[in-house]
Amino acid sequence: MLFLEGEPKAPPANLTLSPEVPHYSVPELHVIDFDDNISSTKAAIDGLLAVCRQQGLGESINADIIQQAREQAWRRKGSYNILELLEENLAPEVMADVRTRYRRGEGGHTLAFDDVVHYANRLSDDPSTPNFILTYGENVDRYPDGGWQADKILRAHTQGSLPPGYAYFMPHSRKGPVLERLHNRVDDTYDMLAFDEDNNLIAMYHAKRAVLIDDRKTSLANAPLNCTTMYMRRADVPATPKQEEGDLPPGTIQIESFDEVPVSKEIEPLNEAARKVELQRVAAFVPLWLYSGLTRDVVPA
Ligand SMILES: [Mg+2]
Repeated sequence: MLFLEGEPKAPPANLTLSPEVPHYSVPELHVIDFDDNISSTKAAIDGLLAVCRQQGLGESINADIIQQAREQAWRRKGSYNILELLEENLAPEVMADVRTRYRRGEGGHTLAFDDVVHYANRLSDDPSTPNFILTYGENVDRYPDGGWQADKILRAHTQGSLPPGYAYFMPHSRKGPVLERLHNRVDDTYDMLAFDEDNNLIAMYHAKRAVLIDDRKTSLANAPLNCTTMYMRRADVPATPKQEEGDLPPGTIQIESFDEVPVSKEIEPLNEAARKVELQRVAAFVPLWLYSGLTRDVVPA
């Protein structure tokens, strides 16, 4: 799993991929929000409390302390930072241990909603459907290890319920304009680098459409024309004010489970290399425009 921070960066203008890299055309790329879309915020906190309890830290970190922090944040109309709360109440090495255990999936409480596992399998089944997590990473610049957002994503990954091998942390939550920037306007496609589990570049996928799935209406606004927006409103989870803020962009499809999201398995080779080699299993899809680690070995300038 890879993490990048900050705004999308453009690749060098003269970027060309070696002809040996297979290129494929696919109908769609899935762009998936994390919090309250894939994962339950309640389960995230319950899991943390369980880890702390198991470590004998229940006096320092418990439901009351979290509730107090939440109420203080409401009063100042901000949000509370869970890692700051840990910092205030635990010694640095104890906090580091708690975070390691949390990332390892200890303490139970499955982060992902039940329907996510099935959706993840549908995306991963051969041939893999391009997908990645696009998430607001709060205070991610303060934590080089990805902070609480990475803690949750790694935990969900360890628990075996995540589709992608890649998550991109945005410093805000307006996803439409970010997708617009990822969109290749010349070919009207979303171009994705495909990596195997050893992080080797194995192919390029060009998706004709994006499907953006998020539980906030405001995150879906201003998406490119070739992007289907889906608003996740889970019937059994009470809506938060942020989820109800704003209006649904025209044409948005409202869903209450990932079971309602179709996953396409169509794939078409675009070059000689793709016709020659067997389709390989993809561990992570990274948007070309977010990737700055291309080397001359794979990408002759
Ligand atoms: Mg969300």
